Parts: sequence; C-alpha cells; structure tokens
Amino acid sequence: MKYLNMFFDGQWTDSKDYKQRDILNPANGEVIAKASEGTAEDAKKAITAARKAFDAGDWPDMAPAERSAFLYRVAAEIDSHHDELTRLETLDNGKTLAEAGYDVSDAADCFRYYAGLIRKPEGQAYDAPDDIQTMVVHEPIGVCGLIVPWNFPLLMSVWKIAPALAAGNTVILKPSEVTPVTAVKLFEIFEAAGMPKGTVNLVLGSGATAGNELAESHHVDKISFTGGTKTGRTIMKAAAGNLKKISLELGGKSPNIVFADADLDTAVDHALYGIFFGAGQVCSSGSRILVEDSIHDQFVERFAERAKNIKVGPGDDTQSEMGPLVSEAHMNNVLDYIAAGKDEGARLVCGGNRIETGAFKNGYFVEPTAFTGTTEDMTIVQEEIFGPVAVFQTFSDEKDAVRLANNTNYGLAGSVFTSDSAKALRVIKKVRAGITWVNTYHTTYNDSPWGGYKQSGIGRSLGTYGLEEYQEVKQINISQ
Ligand code: NAD
Repeated sequence: MKYLNMFFDGQWTDSKDYKQRDILNPANGEVIAKASEGTAEDAKKAITAARKAFDAGDWPDMAPAERSAFLYRVAAEIDSHHDELTRLETLDNGKTLAEAGYDVSDAADCFRYYAGLIRKPEGQAYDAPDDIQTMVVHEPIGVCGLIVPWNFPLLMSVWKIAPALAAGNTVILKPSEVTPVTAVKLFEIFEAAGMPKGTVNLVLGSGATAGNELAESHHVDKISFTGGTKTGRTIMKAAAGNLKKISLELGGKSPNIVFADADLDTAVDHALYGIFFGAGQVCSSGSRILVEDSIHDQFVERFAERAKNIKVGPGDDTQSEMGPLVSEAHMNNVLDYIAAGKDEGARLVCGGNRIETGAFKNGYFVEPTAFTGTTEDMTIVQEEIFGPVAVFQTFSDEKDAVRLANNTNYGLAGSVFTSDSAKALRVIKKVRAGITWVNTYHTTYNDSPWGGYKQSGIGRSLGTYGLEEYQEVKQINISQ
C-alpha cells in the first residue's frame, strides 16, 4: 500500500503519526493509497516553514536566471516521469490515459513557460518631475497558499506553483483530499530538483481544516484557490482577516452557441467534446448548448445518436472514451441533478443513468446525458452540474442567443459556431466570459490568460497575467 505523506521545511512527515484517509480508484472503488490527514496544526507548520524560507531570502532573492534553471529542471523531471504520472492520475481521478497524458505534458510545459517568462527583462524607468528618476519593479508577494480541486489534480497545482515560484514566492500546496496522489509525486520531483528548504510545502487533508487555516492565517500573504463558487465565497471571507491578496478560479455553466449556418459536423463534434471531455468535470465545459430554432431538432438528434455511442469505461482501458466520475458522493450529486431535470419537466434525449453492470459495478460511471425542452429558470440550466450532462436551449436570433448565453451567474467560458466570421466576432464579444472560442472548444495554452467574469472568479491564471497575480508592484523614486 502506498502511504502519502506531507512535506514541510524540506522533510517528509511520517504516516505513523497521522490518521489515514483511504484514496479510492473511481473505476472500481478499490483503495489505491492511504493519505495522512493533515490538520490545521500541520497547515501552521507548513506556513511557518514557508515564512522562514521567504524571510531568509534564498529563493526570493535568487537571480531570475537561477530560479529559471530550477523550474526547467522540474519540467525535465516531469517529462521523465510522464508515464508514471499519467498512470497515477488516471488511477486517482478516473480520467482516461489520453486525458491524463495531456495534463502531464501541459504541466511540464507550464514550468517551461514560466521559466522562460521570468528571464524576460521587465519593469519601467522614467524621468518624473522635480529631478526624480522613477523605476517600477516587481517583487514577490511572500507566502502563497495554493488550494486546488480534484478534476485536474496535477495540472491545477502546477498552474499555481509554476508562476508563484517564478515570481520568487514560497508556497504551500493543499491538493483536494479526494485526489492527492500526483501532488505527492510532484513534491518528490521538487525534492529531486533540489529546491531550497521551505520553498515548497505540501499539506494534505480536508478543506474545512487544513485549507481553512491557509485561508485564515495572518502569516499567508496570498491565497490562490481553484474550486467551487460556494467554497470560493467562504475562502474570500476567511482571507479578509489580513486582507491577503486573492485569486479565485471558480465554476461555470458555459454556453456553446450553434447558429444554423455553422458546419454541423464540426459543431456536433465540438459540442460532444465540450461537455463529455473529462466526463463533464471540467470548469469550462460547454454544459449549455444553445441551438438556433431552425436546426434544433436535427442537431439534437445527431448529438444524441453520437452520445449514445461514446465508449464509457475505466480510464486505464485505452478503448475508453469517457471515464467514471471522481467519487461516489460526486456521482450521487450528478444523479440528483438528473432527477431534478426530470422533475422539472425537461426531456431526456440520451443517457440519464448510472452504469453499474458487470465490471462497472463498483465504479462511479454515469451515461453521457442530455436534456432538451428546458426553460431558463430550471435548476439544470442555472447550476453547475459538473458531470456528463448537457442541457439544450433554443434561440431565435443573435440578440436572443446573447441574452440566453449571459443569463446565469457564471461567466467562465463560451463558444460560437457559425460560418459567418463577422457574426462570430460580434456575438463572442458580447458573451460575458473570460475564455471563449469560435468554431472550436476547450483549446488551452499556457501563454493565454485563464479565468472568469461574474461569479466564475477573480484574477487570471497562465500567461503574463498569471505571473502578475503573484507579484507586488513597487515604485522607486530617486532624487538626482
Ligand atoms: P471544492 O470547492 O469542493 O474544493 C476545492 C478545494 O478547496 C479542495 O482542495 C478542498 O479541500 C478545498 N476546500 C474546501 N472547503 C474549503 C474551505 N472552507 N477552506 C479552504 N479550502 C477549502 O471543489 P471541487 O469539488 O474539488 O472541484 C470542483 C469545482 O472546481 C467546480 O466547481 C469547478 O468548476 C471548479 N474548477 C474551476 C476551475 C477554473 O479554472 N475556474 C478549474 C477546475 C475546477
């Protein structure tokens, strides 16, 4: 049995000293590891280590070129453990090997991106009035608490750690208690890369204890959180005590708008990928498919036919196109939403059930599901289901499409399918969301800012904006 430990001040904790949490394989419910259950006390130890390391200055004062070399080493180590990390992510989260493999490659690329970016000379120098020479420089914020969810356990950790370290901060990562496996492996990689003691710290355990301590602590200068909108609100309140800097990447209910003049093969392909990638457990999922009236029935029929043929199965079976949901509790949430959709009078066009026959018996599999005949106020139209459940809506013209697209509290992502490029641009500019696509879905690049409008979050990950989230800005005025 693999025991998962925490890492503070350059040292691993001992599993004998901790209560253990079972970590399960979502494909069959088997225990794959036991994780030490960190407490608020452990979070405090991790914070103390990160504070000490920041104040000692080894990492924040290191020349960017040297920090960059560390980050390149971490990227190379991730590459050299690619297959192992891929297998572990599939085992822990349930996603297919293809999906997990993409995450691992992207994680290595994210370290390389920030290793390069931090060597780009930045800042400003200019003549102010009164014989003053002014410089504007960037400095690290200090100790950063990084709290991540279970849907991209490795990748979400790296999206935060890479820019935070590049900027010169020290960090404490708290992965989801449901999926801590690849985070532990990542910290073994940090150790192998020789990161200075206390620069990177890992605390395991629940959100309400270990996570809350990071959010509340007056010794943490910045909290960066990815997860549910409700949790984001709780964290924001907890962080208010010392007014720590805050970045939030939250949920979504993203519109995928299909006009009648779209290439329907492309639109159907991307609508399926938009919602069923990651079994719909993706914040940017195209979970609302808005189809122009005149093609609605034809589109839904083609979508449902294809959805019924998606091969659902264990992530480690290379034939599987969609894996299980992450946990029994989460599967039950998704099934409750499906029941709510039926109760509210929406019409199921495919799926709707748990798959629990034969080898699927103890896994958390749900059929690719879609509802039509929905109204704007239905729970399944307004709330994030975070599972393989699409809801169709219809619209009559551009104005109607935009109004419907924006009619939720969320504003994370959105897309438009049309062969009219002027219309595409007009409509996508009106969609109130931070991540948008035209005639495609789900492409992501480490160079481009990721984040949401409205209740989908505050701040941006990735790109140059992602680095700025971990930097203070200082003006220095020099009398000549
Ligand atoms: P969650 O909010 O339940 O948990 C996320 C993390 O927060 C976990 O590590 C958890 O332990 C911790 N946590 C929970 N309560 C806490 C508290 N009171 N204080 C501090 N930490 C706490 O989310 P989840 O179920 O793990 O993930 C799914 C959610 O994440 C979805 O809503 C999804 O949209 C969102 N998400 C958003 C993005 C994005 O980029 N916007 C990316 C991935 C996931």
